[in-house]
Amino acid sequence: MAGRRIMVVGAGITGLTVAHRLVVDHPHLDVTILEASTVTGGKLRTTPLAGLGIDIDEGADAFLVRVPWATDLCAELGLSDGLVAPSARGASLWLDGRLRPIPSPNVLGVPLDPATVAPGLLPDADLERLAGAGRPDVPLPAGDLSVGRVIRACVGDTVFERLVDPLIGGVNAGRADDLSCTTMAPGLLAASRNPDGLLATLRHASLKTDPTAPVFNTPRAGMGRLVGELTSRLGDRIRTGVEVTRIERADSGWVVCSTDGTTAAVDAVVLATPAHVAATLVAPHAPEAASVLGGLRHASVVVATMAWRRSDLEVPGDQSGFLVGRGEGLLMTACSFAGSKWAHLDDPDHTILRVSCGRIDDERHDTMDDPRLASALAADVTATLGVQAPPVVVRLTRWPRSLVQFPVGHPDLMAELHSAMAASPGLVVTGAVRHGVGIPACVRSGTEAAVEVADLVG
Ligand SMILES: Cc1cc2nc3c(=O)[nH]c(=O)nc-3n(C[C@H](O)[C@H](O)[C@H](O)COP(=O)(O)OP(=O)(O)OC[C@H]3O[C@@H](n4cnc5c(N)ncnc54)[C@H](O)[C@@H]3O)c2cc1C
Repeated sequence: MAGRRIMVVGAGITGLTVAHRLVVDHPHLDVTILEASTVTGGKLRTTPLAGLGIDIDEGADAFLVRVPWATDLCAELGLSDGLVAPSARGASLWLDGRLRPIPSPNVLGVPLDPATVAPGLLPDADLERLAGAGRPDVPLPAGDLSVGRVIRACVGDTVFERLVDPLIGGVNAGRADDLSCTTMAPGLLAASRNPDGLLATLRHASLKTDPTAPVFNTPRAGMGRLVGELTSRLGDRIRTGVEVTRIERADSGWVVCSTDGTTAAVDAVVLATPAHVAATLVAPHAPEAASVLGGLRHASVVVATMAWRRSDLEVPGDQSGFLVGRGEGLLMTACSFAGSKWAHLDDPDHTILRVSCGRIDDERHDTMDDPRLASALAADVTATLGVQAPPVVVRLTRWPRSLVQFPVGHPDLMAELHSAMAASPGLVVTGAVRHGVGIPACVRSGTEAAVEVADLVG
């Protein structure tokens, strides 16, 4: 393996993980990362909020701790002591023009106890059904199904539309009626097929989990801390401001061509870019893989970080924010109370909100310039939280084509991708497309790609 050259394309969390794993686990490999942007991290970006001097994430702001990959990576990097959990655990939904608490306990929006459902949230017939086992009337067919198909069959349309779709669809700004349950919520799919019924199975499983254990963590300094640690360990192996435009096959290995006019001959290339970029780069070598990747849709979203004087707007300290139901007529899809959610962002003089908009079927934000978008989102905050004064700080971060959608049958598509790429040994595709958009899933995808590529060149 000594001296073998590996090129990683993209320095988001996936690409940084690939490179980190290769450098640590296979120190004889010669690893380089090319990153199109001038900074590393991709959708993990922590920057100071102008005027307030507080560092706040522009994209992802936390990772799930009930799966191991991100937590383990932080531990390996010595970051565990700096991780914090949200200080507010409650959250609400904006439905029928008012805020309603999300029933707790719930699993991805499925309430486990109908007594915790706020009055008026669900019709009586659905509450009765929620008191039962949650068995579908007709057994569900084998194979992957949409989240909507599973939840509608087991607990009814209203529970799906009012509770589950906002939560699961919110993860990747998708429509849960179109999303693969195997990829987005494998636990719900398995529980729906348990003869005991979805609800009975989830209730039983919940007895084994500690309800007070945190669900999310973040570095106190923001997700940029994780990116910064990986970036500094990788050092000059990373070249920023270099966009890869073409990959060519060579006699042995690959040649990577980039916008800075350079070409690099390498033994293997790992593409850790969004799927639509990988589609273009693999097209000349693996057209079937390109058509799988290019066929996936991506949602565009915006995060508006907005601050009000505390004298103008206060939010409950025990609430982390709210999600907005489909069809409520608002542009905003979610509103996170940054200072209630994270103690380290609790500013004595300002109430800071992270307001999101954009869904796979709602691209209105794309037609608005920044001032119009900012004022439309501020109007939504007025409609939901009642504040009349304008925000004193507004920062818009647009994330075009940022959240890949996982159609029903996505695992089969990934198997197709894998076999289509087999004809191009040494060219590996990874990233959120593999296992999901969450940070832990990306770390897992990066780790797997590192193992694959090391095996290939070894
Ligand atoms: C607004 C928002 C909020 C989110 N919130 C959360 C959250 O709270 N928790 C969570 O777990 N997940 C969250 N996610 C999802 C998560 O952030 C992403 O799925 C994850 O960061 C993707 O990482 P990645 O490395 O695969 O891709 P990216 O972060 O997109 O990185 C890919 C990199 O490749 C580079 N690149 C692209 N093309 C080229 C090229 N041709 N040459 C060289 N470089 C190239 C890009 O510049 C980029 O840096 C959120 C996503 C968004 C958009």
